[in-house]
Amino acid sequence: MMSESKYLPIYKHKAKLIQAVKDSTFLVVTGETGSGKTTQLPQYLHEAGISKDGTIGVTQPRRVAAITVAQRVAQEMKCTLGREVGYQVRFDDCTSQDTVVKYMTDGCLLREILADPFLSKYSVVILDEVHERSLNTDILLGLLKKVFSDPAKSTRGRSFPLKVVVMSATLETDKLSAFLSDCPVFQIPGRTYPVTCTFGSAVGPKDIESTGYIKEVVKIAFDVHTSEMAGDVLVFLTGQSEIERACDLLYEKAESIDYRYDVQDQTVDGLLILPLYGSMPTDQQRQIFQPPPPRIRKCVVATNIAATSLTIDGIKYIVDSGFVKQLNHNSRVGMDILEVVPISKSEAQQRAGRAGRTSAGKCFRIYNKEFWEKSMPEYTVPEIQRTSLTAVILTLKCLGVHDVIRFPYLDCPEERFILEALKQLYQFDAIDRTGRVTHLGELMVEFPLQPGLTRALLKAASLDCQDLLLPVAAMLSVENIFIRPGHPDKQKEADKKHRALASRTGSMNDFATLLSVFHACKSSDRPSGWCKDNWIHWRALKSAFSVETQLREILLRLQQKSDFPVETFDGNKSELLRRCLCTGYFTNVARRSVGKVFCTMDGHGSMVHIHPSSALFDQEDELNWVVFHDVLVTSRVYIRTVCPIRYEWVKDLLPKLHEVDVYELSNVAREEVTDDEMKQWESREAAKRQSEVSKEDV
Ligand code: ADP
Ligand code: MG
Repeated sequence: MMSESKYLPIYKHKAKLIQAVKDSTFLVVTGETGSGKTTQLPQYLHEAGISKDGTIGVTQPRRVAAITVAQRVAQEMKCTLGREVGYQVRFDDCTSQDTVVKYMTDGCLLREILADPFLSKYSVVILDEVHERSLNTDILLGLLKKVFSDPAKSTRGRSFPLKVVVMSATLETDKLSAFLSDCPVFQIPGRTYPVTCTFGSAVGPKDIESTGYIKEVVKIAFDVHTSEMAGDVLVFLTGQSEIERACDLLYEKAESIDYRYDVQDQTVDGLLILPLYGSMPTDQQRQIFQPPPPRIRKCVVATNIAATSLTIDGIKYIVDSGFVKQLNHNSRVGMDILEVVPISKSEAQQRAGRAGRTSAGKCFRIYNKEFWEKSMPEYTVPEIQRTSLTAVILTLKCLGVHDVIRFPYLDCPEERFILEALKQLYQFDAIDRTGRVTHLGELMVEFPLQPGLTRALLKAASLDCQDLLLPVAAMLSVENIFIRPGHPDKQKEADKKHRALASRTGSMNDFATLLSVFHACKSSDRPSGWCKDNWIHWRALKSAFSVETQLREILLRLQQKSDFPVETFDGNKSELLRRCLCTGYFTNVARRSVGKVFCTMDGHGSMVHIHPSSALFDQEDELNWVVFHDVLVTSRVYIRTVCPIRYEWVKDLLPKLHEVDVYELSNVAREEVTDDEMKQWESREAAKRQSEVSKEDV
């Protein structure tokens, strides 16, 4: 395998690259996707002995990419995954004392900075896939610039200077270099072959809301199979359910082929259909990279993960749906939601490019020229400009970045997004009126969960009933546990089982259902069988068990400190779970207005409906007030995972949604803390500590 990697474009530049990394604090590396940046550069640096000073850390915006690439590199270095080469993603740490090359999500590195601001255990940090412009990578870029761009300070808190490598698949390298004190740019020259692109006729600007694109994608992929010469196909779709649906349809069609008459290229007599999406089991993912058997054409149906994060060899044809599933802040409901939106033109070019790595290729776009011109933006908007900033702003504040408006952002988020985040943090008591992090905020930042859920969990812990919330938080952190079969009869059967699970709790509350499913499965003799009988995803539940343990460990560590909040509860015990939920979800309160319509109370006053998957669906008449976990926007706005509450429980919390003066928070946010002020503050603190010590002496 090592010899195979010698054919990668990066190989010829090995020595120069190692030198370039050694020579400066920051280095930007660019090169076509598939040139070997992600898998090879960390190995080169390790071979050059750099890892003797500390771990080589490589960040990825996507969880699957971190895992898959680590597997590959462990294989290339002939070691067991988790030993010399390991990975860490949220709730899954596969590293050890021996790990010298560590792949991880950008979110994980951000959490590490909280515990160790100077990243003292690393010799090199490589931020990979920077062109994706994920929120966490953007924040990391700003933080690393802030901490390490002053050469005098680059060894602060460390015994040797940290090296930072920023990798990007083309695009924006000048901007990156300028941002990082005009650092050098290393370009890996690569050869690409021409890709002919053709537009379709079926999907135009009017089809943005419809799901007809799945059928169209299948039709075109099938046409490629029957009328094009041998070569593998890569289909870009949006998400797991769309991909599974498309694979089913393709499979059906492929069954009907008579290879003697129906296909152009007589050397092809079979189609191997493989899905590829984020939450897929990793052993299944490995198949994707294997060459197909002789005379068989491989067709991979993937999310955007195959656009730059993972490179599959042998792809000659691309089928591009023109859509992507993206997390966007929805101002209609005031929350982040996953939406299917048209990709940008630059993204479309990137997708097409995947067909031209080893020879000339073809890209079939299912959309027409008008869609390209009218519906597709030039570039993808960076995540920092379109999603909620609450969690990262809390992280920044905990790192001592008080002025979050003038933080060095590669692209600034809109000020109102920052204000919105400050407001939410204030509502959750994570910061005070002057914008400073509270004790509660310091506890909250320790949990890799969304702030509302963390707030509810901490409330429960302070009332000593964390056992009610820990499983719920875990269940909400894994993929959907309820199986939704495609076949209508099976769907009915699954619905019936799920309804039975909900009524076991006796309280008709989706959070309580999650709790009850968790325990029922855990205490069962045959948990996997129990899941099968009840149409529950065993794999998802298994992860929930592990997540619960990890959350419990974090909580235990915090509870051991003497200042962990303790409260007493004088209400009805059976209301405990719901009362705790209110503390974290009062920003998601809705009140029934007429019929089955609810109105949210967060100032947006959106009209929402209860989602059919909820146990409360069709029970609306008996409800007045509810809190909910998230929303799904289709032609209607649906609330999902719902819990009935009483007005008295949120009465005192609701005014918080309106009382806060964002200008007050923002004025503070604008106030610059000078180095001098900081020094004064530090010496005051030191003096205080000193006087405490002397008091102890007495
Ligand atoms: P880059 O980061 O520059 O896009 P990579 O280092 O990801 O490039 O990929 C280099 C080569 O390694 C590609 O030819 C790719 O097909 C191969 N490769 C990467 N991961 C795997 C894997 N899990 N299995 C097989 N081949 C892989
Ligand atoms: Mg890469």
